[in-house]
Amino acid sequence: MYTSTRDNSVKVTAAQAIANGISKDGGLFVPTEIPTLTLDELNELVGMDYQGRAVKVLGKYLSDFTAQELTDCVSGAYGGGKFSSDKTAPVVKLDESAYIQELWHGPTCAFKDMALQILPHLLTRAAGKTVGDKQIVILVATSGDTGKAALEGFKDVPNTKILVFYPSDGVSVMQKLQMVTQEGGNVGVCAIKGNFDDAQSGVKAIFTSPDVAKLLEDNGMQFSSANSINWGRLAPQIVYYISAYCDLVEQGAIKLGDKINVAVPTGNFGNILAAYYAKEMGLPVGKLICASNANNVLTDFLSNGTYDRNRNFFTTISPSMDILISSNLERLLYILSGGDDKKVSGYMSELSKNGKYTVDADILEKIKAVFSAGCCDDEQTKATIGSVYADKKYLCDTHTAVAVKVYDEYRKAAGDSTPTVIASTASPFKFTASVLSAINPALVEGEEYEMAKVLEDETGVPCPAQLTGLENKEIRFSSVIDKTEMYGAVYNMLGIEG
Ligand SMILES: *Cc1c(COP(=O)(O)O)cnc(C)c1O
Repeated sequence: MYTSTRDNSVKVTAAQAIANGISKDGGLFVPTEIPTLTLDELNELVGMDYQGRAVKVLGKYLSDFTAQELTDCVSGAYGGGKFSSDKTAPVVKLDESAYIQELWHGPTCAFKDMALQILPHLLTRAAGKTVGDKQIVILVATSGDTGKAALEGFKDVPNTKILVFYPSDGVSVMQKLQMVTQEGGNVGVCAIKGNFDDAQSGVKAIFTSPDVAKLLEDNGMQFSSANSINWGRLAPQIVYYISAYCDLVEQGAIKLGDKINVAVPTGNFGNILAAYYAKEMGLPVGKLICASNANNVLTDFLSNGTYDRNRNFFTTISPSMDILISSNLERLLYILSGGDDKKVSGYMSELSKNGKYTVDADILEKIKAVFSAGCCDDEQTKATIGSVYADKKYLCDTHTAVAVKVYDEYRKAAGDSTPTVIASTASPFKFTASVLSAINPALVEGEEYEMAKVLEDETGVPCPAQLTGLENKEIRFSSVIDKTEMYGAVYNMLGIEG
């Protein structure tokens, strides 16, 4: 069963948690108990392919789905050639202790595909179990990658509609092109004047408004969420950390039972939280290394226990991490406070009132036992892309580079040579201009898609087929609205009166 981080009296099934997205009290759904993974079970997973591993791990969390349902969801998401690697999330050796897990072989070339390809399958089955034949309405706030991955996952899925809001100046040219050219009869895309937090706060407000909920209900519709607050996104992310471990055992890099570290470029705290769940299940993990860009609110929090979003917001070359409110942190606070819903509610209301809160000393102590945190700015990010390419012949994107840099500093400072999986969250060709300027600034010229060819020629790394030819596609969505107009945009898209 699942409960809310802000109200322990809530008890829902996994299907209800996924169909509803967020709890009525504003809290996030969390499993009442974290399932365990024994070394024997882990050993069995080593012999399986990605899909087999996914069915087993998801089955532990989504116990109200049948094995057949999960098998169908998993093969619908990761089968049929949708991922350009037959390992789905392959692990590549970078140096003596660093391994890169490439999470971007899906249709939109970002790690969001790992969860958003399977979410529509989980969600439509969850809705069938809970809300009958109501139409599911998905609202997404995106800093770039979620939006496209959600649109691609939900396009033309029967009985669903999806509307994506993105900050007009907060996404890369390629990300924007991907979204505004999206095909599908049930999709909408809208730019917001503001930053990602404005888009996310707007979506959260609409999502939790009782008036809007009533309006939708009267029209045979119900909201659900494809943002990383939905448990149906988090659970599939737990799978790949376990899969990475199995791959390292398979490759002979570690023995079953050896510890690994995990380094994750972090924004909303979803991806790294999935690694935390994997560790809590019993996966042998030592440190979780949380890497941030110049928006380093998490670096400070994980080091001193004060979350303070009252600071400058920076637009960086790793835009999917330009976030000052990391929503999924709420789940970690719930677990570390021993399931204290009152305490979590208190922190969250302080955050919304004053923009900050400080956790108790015992929570900070538990955080420090598991997490190490660091950050780097755009210059360091570019220098890292350049040196990783020059020294190791590996081309990484701007987000991955933040994690590589922060991991490198951790490794030196702590003298920790534990094999470490670095989550690589996007193809370098999603952020071509920045990556090219890191490799050879003299070549930066022209449109983003023209530079992709140049980057290809310069490095010999092929641009993923998913990203080529976008410039020739029809632009279907061009509206830019004020954040106060978001309600209207939703009603419009749904064809209902507000
Ligand atoms: C979303 C995203 C991140 C941040 O992931 P969170 O789960 O929000 O922490 C990092 N890199 C890329 C490329 C992303 O799209």
